[in-house]
Amino acid sequence: MRIALLTAAFTGSLIAANADLILHNGKIVTVDRDFSIRQAVAIRGNRIVAVGDSAAVLASERGPWTKVIDLGGKTVLPGLIDSHVHALEGGLSEFRAPLPPLDSFAAIQDFIRKEAAKTPKGEWIIVPRTFPTRLKEMRMPTRELLDVATEHPVMFDASYVVVANSLALKMSGITRQTPDPPLGEILKDANGEPTGILKNAQSLLKGLKPPAPFTYLEKLQALEKMLQLYQAAGITSICDGGVGEEDIQLFGELKATGRLPVRVAMTWWHNASSPMEELRRELEAHAVTTNTGDEWLKFAAYKVNVDGGMTIGTAYQRYPYGPFGRQLYGKTREDDRGQLFESPEKLLDIMGAARAKGWQLTAHTQGGGAIDGFLDAMAALDKQNPIAPTRSHLIHASFQSAEAIARMKKMGILADAQAAWLHFDTPALEKVFGYDGLRSFFPLRSYIDAGVIVAGGSDHMIGHDKNRAVNPYNPFHGLWVSVTRKTSSGSVMHPEERITREEALKTYTIWAAYRMFSEKEKGSVEAGKLADLVVIDRDYLTCPEDDIAKIVPVAVVLDGKFRGQATQPRNSRAGGR
Ligand SMILES: [Zn+2]
Repeated sequence: MRIALLTAAFTGSLIAANADLILHNGKIVTVDRDFSIRQAVAIRGNRIVAVGDSAAVLASERGPWTKVIDLGGKTVLPGLIDSHVHALEGGLSEFRAPLPPLDSFAAIQDFIRKEAAKTPKGEWIIVPRTFPTRLKEMRMPTRELLDVATEHPVMFDASYVVVANSLALKMSGITRQTPDPPLGEILKDANGEPTGILKNAQSLLKGLKPPAPFTYLEKLQALEKMLQLYQAAGITSICDGGVGEEDIQLFGELKATGRLPVRVAMTWWHNASSPMEELRRELEAHAVTTNTGDEWLKFAAYKVNVDGGMTIGTAYQRYPYGPFGRQLYGKTREDDRGQLFESPEKLLDIMGAARAKGWQLTAHTQGGGAIDGFLDAMAALDKQNPIAPTRSHLIHASFQSAEAIARMKKMGILADAQAAWLHFDTPALEKVFGYDGLRSFFPLRSYIDAGVIVAGGSDHMIGHDKNRAVNPYNPFHGLWVSVTRKTSSGSVMHPEERITREEALKTYTIWAAYRMFSEKEKGSVEAGKLADLVVIDRDYLTCPEDDIAKIVPVAVVLDGKFRGQATQPRNSRAGGR
C-alpha cells in the first residue's frame, strides 16, 4: 500500500494507482467517437479505467500489483459482438457427431447410401439441413434424387421446405389427390404427381420420429461449448436470434453457475401462427421484457417471422420469382412470390400488443414484400407514439429498397444484417434476380449513408467450425465481406455498397451494442466501460484487404480477465513487485 501511495505521489495523481491489468505498447482501436487509436489500456476489476499513450497510462495507473503486458505492437479491438446467432441449435448440431459437408447432389446421395447401410430397413434417414443455394447444382432436389435409398424413407431438410423420397411419400399416403395443408404446399410435376418437395407441409410426413431427444444436461453442455467457441473466435457478446422457454432456462443456468463464456442478449421468439388470443395471453404471462436482466444476460427484442427464407424461395418478394427461381426452388406457379406467415392486420395486432408490454420490436423479414409489411406495421404504431426510442429493427431485410431505407431512417428503425449471406448466396441468387435485382441486397453503404444504424452478425445456426458453419460465425469473415462484398465465386457484388473497415468494425461493436441498449457499457474501449477486448494477430486497419478474413484472436479479455484457450501475448510480466 505504501508503494501505491508513493507511486501516486510521484505521478502527481490524486487517485491511488491500482489497475489490475495494463496492456501497453499496442495499437488500441478504441472505436470511440473520434475512432481514436491509442497505445495502452488499464483495467481495474471488470472496468476500463484509462486509455491513452503507454507512458501516461503506465505512469498514472500502474500500482504494485498491476499485471503489465507489453503487446509488442499488436492490435486490440473492442470485444466483438455478433448480433444474431442461434447458439443452442448450433451447439447441438454437432454435439453427437460431426456433420458431413453436403455441397452437391452427389454428396447428398453418398450420405444417404452410407446411412442406409447402417439403418434398419423402413427407418427414416434425414439429410441434415442444406440449402439449395449452396449446392453446386443450385437446384432443390426431388424425390428421384433421394430414391438412391428405396427401402428407407428419406427426408432432405431445407428448413421450411423439405423433400421426401418416393417411399416416404408412399408411407405418408401423399398422392396426386392429397390437398395442400393450410399455408403449405405439396409440389406437383407437369403430370400432377408429387415431386417430393413439401413447403411448410412437413407435418404430412408420417412416422417421422424426431431424433433421440437431448437431455437437459446435454443441451446445457452443447450450449456452453458453443458459447466457448464464440469466445475463442473473438466474440465477447452475442444476441441469440430467437429463444424459447428452454433456451431462457439454459442461459439462466449457465449464468447462475458462473459459466457464461460470453455476454448474452436474448431475442424472444413468438410463433405468430398461434391464435391472437393465445399470443396475447403469453405476452401478458411473460414477466420479462426488453432489458430485463443485466450485462451478462438480458432480454433483447420481441420477434416474429413475417416470411420464409431466401435460401429456399419462401421469402415474400415484391415480384414473382421468375423461371430460374422456379428451377432453383422447385416452384410451379408463375405468380409465386413466396410466403407471408401472417396477415398485415394480425402483424400489427401482435406488434402493438408486444410494444404495449415494453418490448423492442423485431421480425425476420427476407423478401421486399415482408420488409414493406413490417414497416407498415411500424408506421401505424409510430403514428400512435414515436417508435424510434424502442430501437426496433429488421432482421436480415435481404431485399431492400431505397424507399424502405428512407422509411427506416424516418422512423428510427435499425438493420440487423448478415454479410456472410452476401458471400455465399448471391452467386445463385444472381441467377434468379439478375445483377440489378440484387442492387439493394444487404446494402450496407446505403444504410450508413442514410443514417440507419446497422448491427452486424452471422445468423450462425449449424456447425461448430467458425469458418465452415452455416453461417460462418467468424466475425472477421463478416468484417471482410462487409468491406469487400466478395462472393464465393470470386465476383464482387455491387462494389458501390462496400463500407470502410472502420464502419464494418462499428457494425460488430458500438452499433451492435446500441441495438441492445448497451452502448454506454460496451462496444468501445473507453474509460468506464466493461473491459471486453480482443487482441488480434495482425493490424485490422492496414493489413491487405483479403487478410481481414484470416485474422485470428491472440487473446480475449472479457469482464477484465483473460479467457479461453487463446494464448496470452508473450512478454507478460507482473509489474511493480
Ligand atoms: Zn436467425
